[in-house]
Amino acid sequence: MEEGKKVDIFAEKREKMVREQLITRGIHDKRVLDAMRKVPRHLFVPPDLIDEAYNDYPLPIGQGQTISQPYIVALMTEALELKGDEKTLEIGTGSGYQTAILAELSKEVYTIERIISLLNKAKEVLKDLGYKNIFFKAGDGTLGWPENKPYDAIIVTAGAPKIPQTLVDQLADKGRLVIPVGDRFSQELIKVTKSKNELIRENLGGCRFVNLIGIHGWKE
Ligand code: SAM
Repeated sequence: MEEGKKVDIFAEKREKMVREQLITRGIHDKRVLDAMRKVPRHLFVPPDLIDEAYNDYPLPIGQGQTISQPYIVALMTEALELKGDEKTLEIGTGSGYQTAILAELSKEVYTIERIISLLNKAKEVLKDLGYKNIFFKAGDGTLGWPENKPYDAIIVTAGAPKIPQTLVDQLADKGRLVIPVGDRFSQELIKVTKSKNELIRENLGGCRFVNLIGIHGWKE
């Protein structure tokens, strides 16, 4: 009974988050909005921050890393234009929340995280939630995951100094890549669409992410 009550409170919070933080700011893809209504974000934050899980800002998840603001998750996901049959690559598993949203909307999700303790925690939560279409890898995501290329969609959830060519090379024709690019403190959210050998680049606006650390990212 107590548990049932709690679930309702969180569902209400999710609905409010979708209405007040996402729809009002222009997120309109129904599949993205429904995924954000469904995924229990409060299970991906540290227990002492559970009451803040649906608030309009990022939260710390340990190891100096963050779970992104709900709006940024929605904006990046919408830009990937997922229809359900995609192979999607995510760089920066973090808490696993964005991974769950991608798993709701893609056929398969390949996710890479460089901090093992975060990867293991995310794996545990995502397995408990029953996701069977997520594949995990520990390591430097700036190298991509070439064994499973090409990817229809690639999302990088940490700020890069430039777009890693390795990731562009692993993108399928007509594939979409979304990545924050800038300096160590602030970035622009860039969407790249591959069309034959041409790259179409769009700027989705300013953002602030933790650093993408790796061979084709920042030095530690
Ligand atoms: N999407 C995540 C979520 O929903 O919780 C938030 C990710 S957090 C903003 C960025 C993550 O990228 C951190 O967990 C960080 O350790 C990871 N990261 C940074 N550089 C990386 C790299 N080269 N390869 C893989 N993960 C990386």
